[in-house]
Amino acid sequence: MSRSDLARMIDEARRMVVFTGAGISTESGIPDFRSPGGVWSKMKPIYFQEFVGDAAKRREAWTRTFSGTARWTGAAPNAGHHAVARLVAAGKARAVITQNVDNLHQDSGVPADKVIELHGNASYAMCLECEERHELAELKDSFLKAGEIPYCRRCGGLVKTAVISFGQSMPQEPMARAQQASLSCDLFLVLGSSLAVHPAAGFPLIAKRNGALLAIVNREPTELDPYADLVLHEEIGAVMTEVVAA
Ligand code: ZN
Repeated sequence: MSRSDLARMIDEARRMVVFTGAGISTESGIPDFRSPGGVWSKMKPIYFQEFVGDAAKRREAWTRTFSGTARWTGAAPNAGHHAVARLVAAGKARAVITQNVDNLHQDSGVPADKVIELHGNASYAMCLECEERHELAELKDSFLKAGEIPYCRRCGGLVKTAVISFGQSMPQEPMARAQQASLSCDLFLVLGSSLAVHPAAGFPLIAKRNGALLAIVNREPTELDPYADLVLHEEIGAVMTEVVAA
């Protein structure tokens, strides 16, 4: 199987879904959190229950956020993100389901309502009570200069980055939208996910069982390679730049 086979599959697709994981963003210099050298090999995750129950943990979490130690955001989209954005702009891809929290699909021009974020978004914060959005830039000064842990400007509730933390339940609305997109597509294209994390890894199989073609581009073999109609173990940016015309 080759890049031209993938180009033909995309050309023939009418209702395509793109699913992205850490591998598309490592090409922007964002380390895979789960890999050796990734953030969780350097620091212990702060579980959701710790954040909610312990002011010292909240302070530690915000310190991490504003010092950039986790390197969750701040990178620029790469050729892979831009190719995905072209697929969406052309009406070819209906949705982008992502395991990433780095906002790089939106930064590359994909409308926010087309991006289904399974693990949230690290580039802004949200009230845990009323879901009011807070921009990190607004919270940063008062935390760094006055040491104030952020609270909601609307209801006074706890504010946390919009990432889904360990111990926090998967968000129902994105999960439902991802399921719907998987059921209604005719091509499910995986870019840069080892497909090892459940329940997210179930979506390609939902699509496949419902008659869609499954294509996987990932540097390493994945658990679902045996089920795929096309597998390329290559760099995403290079492959997608070639198969999606600029
Ligand atoms: Zn609130």
